[in-house]
Amino acid sequence: MRQPACTNYEKPFLYLLIGSTRALLIDTGAGGIDVAAPIDSLLTAWRAKHGGAVRTLVVAHSHGHGDHIAGDAQFRDRAGIMLVPRDSAAVYAFFGFRAQRSDAVAFDLGDRMLDVLAIPGHEPASIAVYDRKTAVLLTGDTFYPGRLYVRDTAAFAASTARLVGFTRSRQVSAILGTHIEQARTPFTDYPVGTVDQPDEDRLELSRADLIMLDSTVRTMRGRFTRTRLPRFTIWPR
Ligand SMILES: [Zn+2]
Repeated sequence: MRQPACTNYEKPFLYLLIGSTRALLIDTGAGGIDVAAPIDSLLTAWRAKHGGAVRTLVVAHSHGHGDHIAGDAQFRDRAGIMLVPRDSAAVYAFFGFRAQRSDAVAFDLGDRMLDVLAIPGHEPASIAVYDRKTAVLLTGDTFYPGRLYVRDTAAFAASTARLVGFTRSRQVSAILGTHIEQARTPFTDYPVGTVDQPDEDRLELSRADLIMLDSTVRTMRGRFTRTRLPRFTIWPR
């Protein structure tokens, strides 16, 4: 799902993955919009169609920045909903990461297995989620068609290497992040705050794009500089 641009220029993407016993919502939007009602109706429709017993909705975040957690209050203290706090300590405890560089952790939604990786660098609580059913890899603000803001360069370099390593032995149908800031014209992004993006790039990135990110990061050897690539820009802060 995507939050409409008219409600917030960030227009972030939200992802809902549904298994036979649990569902996982990744992110709650940038605020100023009802997120809970559409999620509730999607789950109700799913239960009706599949006769299912999706008993628990886990609400987690791609990372803890404000444009991805603003709708959290809509899910707090509701029966059947487990809201994972935004901070990295809570995220690590919930998914069972042992350290920043720990391996992927399996997360079972019931007949739908996910692999969750800690990928700090953009933000300490950043995670990636791989859906074995669709071979889609969700990368949050760490990797999307736009400005990849890097706060912790060492952690970011380790995380991109981890993503490349993780995908080496797996199919990847698409890599999906949480924004589009890029135009279809290569090396071109829309300025911060742009609402109307008529020539917007597509959302999907590929494993080849990920390898381009990782190899560019490697050549920087820890000294990050703002670097434009055809479909994204590495942007140290
Ligand atoms: Zn964001």
